[in-house]
Amino acid sequence: MEKEKIDYVKSKVRNIPDFPVKGIQFKDLTTAFKDPESLNIMRDAIIELYKDKGITKVVGIEARGFIFGAIVASALGAGFVPLRKPGKLPAKTIKKTYTKEYGEDTIEIHEDAIGPDDVVLMHDDLLATGGTMAAALDLVGMMKPKKTYINFLCELVDLKGRDIFPADVEVTSLFDFEGE
Ligand code: AMP
Repeated sequence: MEKEKIDYVKSKVRNIPDFPVKGIQFKDLTTAFKDPESLNIMRDAIIELYKDKGITKVVGIEARGFIFGAIVASALGAGFVPLRKPGKLPAKTIKKTYTKEYGEDTIEIHEDAIGPDDVVLMHDDLLATGGTMAAALDLVGMMKPKKTYINFLCELVDLKGRDIFPADVEVTSLFDFEGE
């Protein structure tokens, strides 16, 4: 993504200190979503990255990963799969508990959501410690897709969340923040 476009989107992200707990600099992306230009810059950038990868399923992580997960799935001609908090999915699931930047959480996915012929793009809005996406990657891995990619809109580079992922999994983010 060109620098001007990155700067434009970043200028639309609102920083909320001490949310949801003291010491966290919360990156509020709703302000980047509500701006039509910023929304389309991010959409086009993700499509450009994955349009030739043969993606068949986009997995979005509840809740902020649903927004671009669905937009991108539709634009890539792929299906959308929600990865949800416990107790929300109606059919048989597999689940995993993990630690995140603030607190602990569990995620679930329908056990038949992904198959061995799928090329999966996993998406969430933001990479902090990487705990959420690593747990999601484990879950999706149990369904043995052909290949898996990971994408975030925003990366908090100081937390080095990227290091948690196996070297053979390609991880992209559209923009990042340092020193916060
Ligand atoms: P993590 O598992 O630590 O990578 O946390 C990622 C998840 O928590 C994502 O779903 C983000 O939406 C949310 N999150 C964690 N830290 C922040 C932050 N500083 N600002 C905004 N969202 C965050």
